Amino acid sequence: MQKKKQEAPFDWKLETQAIRQQLPRTDYMEHSVPLYLTSSFVFEDAEDMRSAFAEEKQRMLYSRYGNPNSDELIQKVCSLEGAEAGYSFASGMSAVFSTLAALLESGDRILACRSVFGSTLTLFSSIFPKWGIETDYFDTDDGPEQWEQKRKPSTRIVYVESPTNPGVDLVDLERLGNYCRDQGLLLVVDNCFATPYLQQPLQLGAHLSVHSGTKLMDGQGRVLGGLVVGEAELIDRIYRFARVSGPALSPFHAWLLSKSLETLSVRVDRHCENALEVAKRLEQRPQVSSVRYPFLLSHPKYDLAKRQMKAGGPVVAFDLKGGLEAGRNFFDHLEWLSLSANLGDSRTIVTHPASTTHSKLEEELREQLGIFSGTVRVSVGLEHVDDVWKDMERAFSYL
Ligand SMILES: *Cc1c(COP(=O)(O)O)cnc(C)c1O
Repeated sequence: MQKKKQEAPFDWKLETQAIRQQLPRTDYMEHSVPLYLTSSFVFEDAEDMRSAFAEEKQRMLYSRYGNPNSDELIQKVCSLEGAEAGYSFASGMSAVFSTLAALLESGDRILACRSVFGSTLTLFSSIFPKWGIETDYFDTDDGPEQWEQKRKPSTRIVYVESPTNPGVDLVDLERLGNYCRDQGLLLVVDNCFATPYLQQPLQLGAHLSVHSGTKLMDGQGRVLGGLVVGEAELIDRIYRFARVSGPALSPFHAWLLSKSLETLSVRVDRHCENALEVAKRLEQRPQVSSVRYPFLLSHPKYDLAKRQMKAGGPVVAFDLKGGLEAGRNFFDHLEWLSLSANLGDSRTIVTHPASTTHSKLEEELREQLGIFSGTVRVSVGLEHVDDVWKDMERAFSYL
């Protein structure tokens, strides 16, 4: 069941909504929300069942359609983003795929920023073309003139991420939102790197905001999950696609993600504080040629970052002077920081995009995306920043 936003009983701030928006208590008067680990729901009588299937009333039918735990999660994220409705998915990628597949017809085109998540790029380049859906690309620095040049008469959806991964570049969401509204295009923003706590694309003009719940929302590297929230009419189409194609989120993962949101603001504050500190210290290292973090004064879009985000997020990218060789050396001398593909985890994670997530791209395209052979991406965790820095310093001493 896609969940329409109910009005919160009070004029709650985001932090309070993330904690206090919850399912009604059962007769047991539990304090923490129960886990509704059930695949289906029962009916009182034939008329109850008939009217439920006829959609004459909103009620639980079957967990592929909806479940109380996923409803609570959706409701919460709708409140945090100021969305009318939403639907939750088994992963971020199933949210991205279902959103686009539900809204596009064969022959339609997507206009996307080149710097999008690797699997999203593969969807655009290898999966959607099978159904006659092609994608045109623009760059993060482009504005209305380039957007207008690159869109085609059959372009329906504009798709972006900001901040980008792993280049940590920004797209001006308000400007793009205005352009899309003027041109009758749908704007879909992957808000995974920022979370609703740092950035609210729907308030800047986007029609839909998609999330991987796997990253900062869970925040502890435990589960996969995804969401889309936005305008009710669009969500209804996505829901009708998803309830038959079956990418529903498990109730257990929904329960975990909803619980995780209770601590979202405090966790993300600390991630951002630690990440800014690591970014500043990196700028002082002689082995580092450049550092990219939205809330560093040296970021080319610092002013935009301040306008559209509350803080810079957990991810810092930097370039080592010695290129690939230095990168490998740096990684091999880290003692305990994790080498892993995830991000937004309580543990600090370091990756080398050129030899891993983006190794299949041609060098020229890779560099356009801000990924050089010596680029390192750090997702700064919640450990004490001095300890994180000590491990990085030790590795620097070998370069
Ligand atoms: C991880 C990620 C996704 C995909 O999410 P999964 O939960 O891994 O499927 C999509 N977009 C961005 C920006 C991501 O970082």
